[in-house]
Amino acid sequence: MGRSAVVVGGGVGGLAVAIGLRRIGWGVTVLERASALQDAGAGISLAANGLRALDALGVGAAVRQASRGQYSGGTRTPRGGWLARLDGAALEKAVGTPIRGIRRSALHRLLRQALPAGTLLTGSEAAAVRQTGPGTVRVDCGDTALDADLVVAADGVGSRVRGLLFPDHPGPVYSGSTVLRAVTGEPVDLPTDFELTWGHGAEFGHIAFPDGRAEWHAVLSLPAGTRFDDPLAALRRRFHHWHDPIPALLDAVPAEAVLHHDVHELRTPLPSYTAGRIALLGDAAHAMTPHLGQGACQALEDAVTLAASLAAGPTVDAALVRYDAERRPRSQQVARAARQAGRLGQQLSRPWAVALRNTAMRLAPSRATVRTVLRHHDWVPPRLG
Ligand SMILES: Cc1cc2nc3c(=O)[nH]c(=O)nc-3n(C[C@H](O)[C@H](O)[C@H](O)COP(=O)(O)OP(=O)(O)OC[C@H]3O[C@@H](n4cnc5c(N)ncnc54)[C@H](O)[C@@H]3O)c2cc1C
Repeated sequence: MGRSAVVVGGGVGGLAVAIGLRRIGWGVTVLERASALQDAGAGISLAANGLRALDALGVGAAVRQASRGQYSGGTRTPRGGWLARLDGAALEKAVGTPIRGIRRSALHRLLRQALPAGTLLTGSEAAAVRQTGPGTVRVDCGDTALDADLVVAADGVGSRVRGLLFPDHPGPVYSGSTVLRAVTGEPVDLPTDFELTWGHGAEFGHIAFPDGRAEWHAVLSLPAGTRFDDPLAALRRRFHHWHDPIPALLDAVPAEAVLHHDVHELRTPLPSYTAGRIALLGDAAHAMTPHLGQGACQALEDAVTLAASLAAGPTVDAALVRYDAERRPRSQQVARAARQAGRLGQQLSRPWAVALRNTAMRLAPSRATVRTVLRHHDWVPPRLG
């Protein structure tokens, strides 16, 4: 009889691992607590490592088609001066692709379409997971109990499964940054594919999509739970003197389109990504700040690595040991780097520190910038059997 897995969570990580498991011949059920598949978030950047993982899952071509290469842009000051230029062509030469921007809803749709109907069960919240024998694990979901050879917990930053497996772990903490973002209702005239602008304790950025629309995001250092009665008015006040096209981007969305989330991260690294026949994956295992745009890319790496490890065998238990050994050091290192990038980027607020950083960035040769980026992007997926 074939092997079976239950995946808890139908986000990018859960859907990706379900595709990977099916490609190696496993039966898979994905439990997603949301009853409607919403347009979670606005846009996302996928770097070479994430795109290579998607290639290994057989959906890379479709994602490339639905996304836009980030060839132009970079990091700017609020007055519009350039701190670093994005060299998409150099990245393409080095790793075969520039970073690509895609709407989250499009990425989710493409991942869902790669799964047979009936694999993803929405409105299905996993309440508990427990080992019921040396090789079996059970998920309680409403009135139903699902038995499987493996449970993959891809239930996000607030992972309930992680809490059950590691009750002494402190869990996620507030990163100090809150994010407001939206997608423009219509195409906008943008001079670049991707930009970040750093002020004192604030960042504004955009990602352009193939249809000419764009997402923008504003990241602010504020106490957790800060909310605005009128978010767009608050952002206009905060960013009114920042360079074009920032004011125009703020004007291009209706007030109700603005999403606002506090960013939490798993600052204390987990001691293991597996416990018995349960594997943690994506934000459940290593929620990181968005400052490197690597959270989903790391979830995609996890998904391919887990499937490849199970395909290589010789046993499920041996494969899980290898998954933990391969994924924990790398993803935790990327999470540390993301935190550091936030501290030196968006979160830096003392004027002398901002001036020092800006000078260092202006003097850095673009080759050095590309080399730094490649440290995280140049990942080669294992073969799926
Ligand atoms: C502002 C921002 C910008 C970002 N930008 C980028 C970027 O440009 N590039 C990038 O690579 N990453 C980016 N990230 C990170 C990326 O969004 C996450 O790392 C990624 O979405 C994690 O995917 P996941 O599947 O692990 O978790 P999630 O996407 O959180 O999915 C978890 C799913 O599990 C479900 N769930 C939870 N509990 C249960 C349960 N008990 N039973 C059933 N279902 C459950 C949830 O409803 C959810 O659908 C960004 C993050 C933020 C906050």
